Amino acid sequence: MNIPRPNEENALGLSDWFGPSLDLAIWAHETFLVEGGELENPDHAHLRFAKIGYLWTNVANTKKGRMIIGTAEKGQPQGAMGKWSKARAELQVVEWFGQVPDFIITIHAEWWLQAGDAERCALIEHELYHCTQDKDAFGAPKFSRSTGLPVYVMRGHDVEEFVGVVRRYGAEATRVQELVDAANAGPEIAAAEIAHACGNCA
Ligand SMILES: [Zn+2]
Repeated sequence: MNIPRPNEENALGLSDWFGPSLDLAIWAHETFLVEGGELENPDHAHLRFAKIGYLWTNVANTKKGRMIIGTAEKGQPQGAMGKWSKARAELQVVEWFGQVPDFIITIHAEWWLQAGDAERCALIEHELYHCTQDKDAFGAPKFSRSTGLPVYVMRGHDVEEFVGVVRRYGAEATRVQELVDAANAGPEIAAAEIAHACGNCA
């Protein structure tokens, strides 16, 4: 299956746009989540039965001086909202996805159009890594007592550090040794320069 693309007219248009993408949902599921998928990653195995809604947008987004090209969030609208605001936000989500999904992943459509395939895959996996299953007090995957379904939560980045600090103090002191080891081992999938930003933890 080819990597889906957003509608160019909307992506490059001047009016603000959000559009749900079933294509992207199916592609991401079949590529990264399904057993035997082309780029299956067992790290995401807990998401095989999760409902993930994908959204394109052309709305520019920067946070603390960085361009945001993707975000992952809980499907249920979060934050302090009045009753009507909450109902309205939920209704919008249901209109897009037919239900309130476990997670919503939003992708900057214009960035996607000019990105390489490896960068696109890296961005989707980056967002999927933010979507995780909660753990109980013993470290075992947590399931809801009432529904028996996994309890999903958001997860932050493994590493949050400035290059300059790593340059000055090294990988050990800045706790990025694992990242350095992973980088030194070379890509498992494809060589690509992947520079992306993500809105979750910026
Ligand atoms: Zn992120």
